[in-house]
Amino acid sequence: KAYVANKNRYDSMEYRKAGESGLYLPAISLGLWHNFGERNSQEQMQDILREAFDLGITHFDLANNYGPPYGEAERNFGILYQRDFRPYREELLISTKAGYDMWEGPYGNGGSRKYLLTSCDASLKRMQLDYVDIFYHHRMDPDTPLMETMLALLQIVQSGKAIYAGISNYDGKTMKKAVEIAKEIRLPLVINQNRYSILDRKVEENGLKAAAKEEGMGLICFSPLAQGLLSNRYVEGIPEDSRMMKDGRYLHREDFTEEKRQMLAKLLKIAEERGQSLSEMALSWVLRDEATTSVLVGVSKKEQLWENVKALENTCFTAEEEEAIRIATAL
Ligand code: NDP
Repeated sequence: KAYVANKNRYDSMEYRKAGESGLYLPAISLGLWHNFGERNSQEQMQDILREAFDLGITHFDLANNYGPPYGEAERNFGILYQRDFRPYREELLISTKAGYDMWEGPYGNGGSRKYLLTSCDASLKRMQLDYVDIFYHHRMDPDTPLMETMLALLQIVQSGKAIYAGISNYDGKTMKKAVEIAKEIRLPLVINQNRYSILDRKVEENGLKAAAKEEGMGLICFSPLAQGLLSNRYVEGIPEDSRMMKDGRYLHREDFTEEKRQMLAKLLKIAEERGQSLSEMALSWVLRDEATTSVLVGVSKKEQLWENVKALENTCFTAEEEEAIRIATAL
């Protein structure tokens, strides 16, 4: 059946500005890292994308190598975009990235001008798009001069293939250097994409979060649920239909110790005292700070989106709750 977007899609979602730029992101964004590869059905993917947009989630995040195999998530997205979302292109923020391993040889990884420009073209082709809204350099590359990477991003923007530029997995120090260059060359570098969750506070330690605030740059946080661990689902043990069971590429069963399970049980108790599920609390925790523009979730079924958007109902934490979370996670 042809898709017609929900008329009320903008009624309940909150939109936050990416730092001091003019760009608004939905407080909850959808990532296509998992569940959009060759093992997933188009029906499942269609369900997730339609439900997301109907909930006001205007931002879909991809990368050149999401799959498996590499490129497959962009290809699948392209098919579904053509079928369902073409009439809504102006209402959507679509992002992709290059930086990690993509193709063989010396030009399919890193931060060179050669890699970024050719990868961007290949991504657009796979997604059947004329442009993306944000093009990211996916990771710091100490082997390429930052100026070269930033100039490649500028060319992508100036050629109309991306509207904004972003950087991902940078630390605070390198990000500041990137911002300095961006100012000099007038690159609209508006957002950082980094991992941030109750279980991974590295951006607080490596200066990235503070630097984003200082520089007026946005911050979109990935794996806010620690790939699904921060949900009611794992408290009783590893669920059969979970990412850990079905696709353990980046989420390993051997790391799921009894100690970890007990920690999740403690966190769930704190969440319940706040009247939330564990995943709701995990998302509200990342959103509690104005420095966070958006939390970037993945979902294996559309029902998970319903729970995730409920996180927006309470994003305030008392000092006591913060402390209780800190104690619960101090292994
Ligand atoms: P999450 O931490 O949100 O984990 C997503 C997984 O959690 C889902 O696939 C699902 O797993 C489970 N889940 C989601 N909602 C619920 C819920 N309500 N209740 C129970 N379980 C739930 O994020 P991801 O690790 O998937 O990352 C999100 C996005 O961030 C990626 O798609 C990608 O776009 C981006 N990203 C960027 C990176 C970068 O280097 N820039 C690196 C990694 C991610 P299950 O299958 O168990 O149901």
